[in-house]
Amino acid sequence: MAITKPTDSYRHQGLRKLLVQTIRQKGISDPAVLDAILKVPRHFFFDSSFLEYAYEDKPFAIGAGQTISQPYTVAFQSELLQIKKGERVLEIGTGSGYQACILAELGARVFTIERQKLLFDRTSKFLPSLGYVTIKTFYGDGYKGLPAFGPFDKMIVTAAAPYVPDELLKQLKPGGTLVIPVGADDVQIMTTITKLADNTFETKEYGTFRFVPMLGDKASEK
Ligand code: SAH
Repeated sequence: MAITKPTDSYRHQGLRKLLVQTIRQKGISDPAVLDAILKVPRHFFFDSSFLEYAYEDKPFAIGAGQTISQPYTVAFQSELLQIKKGERVLEIGTGSGYQACILAELGARVFTIERQKLLFDRTSKFLPSLGYVTIKTFYGDGYKGLPAFGPFDKMIVTAAAPYVPDELLKQLKPGGTLVIPVGADDVQIMTTITKLADNTFETKEYGTFRFVPMLGDKASEK
């Protein structure tokens, strides 16, 4: 990730248009989501030596053993969230901050938690430098959510969850939806869990995806 804001050249903008086409061909149709992918310069989240990889539809290593999710996956989860302007959205797994910026472009009031200190420090400084001043970043354990800031309209987990954390469901508003890849093995099942008005839950499953693991409660000091 660059320290200073890189430039967004015509070439990068062109590559982004092609990326949006690719994602559309893979089945993403929500115009707001496609527009957000078009707007956020993904190469800003890459180290300058790896810029040419930024517009491939692939995940990429961002340091501290973590990855920036594949653009298709970011779009898929964002589409499932069906964000309306002004909604409070909690993200678990800030990582590079790319997904958080997409959510902000969709009009969400974003709260995002990261458990790796290195990534937290880097991303919490970097996002405001890009102009994303309303995204609130937190260093902590996503399994616990953010009780002091809830309840949330929507939640998105961007790491492989071995199970659905109860705390997250508690902090979801009635009518709210959690989008979470569930599975402890190699692949996860993209799952939406909606809290109904009577506090029961409706679960739906989508395809399989691969995420880095959602790790346990001790936030790393590295
Ligand atoms: N959304 C990110 C991709 C994240 S990769 C992006 O757009 O770049 C998954 C992230 O989840 C990693 O940064 C990892 O450190 C973080 N993570 C894993 N377990 C976590 C937990 N329990 N709480 C918060 N973050 C966690």
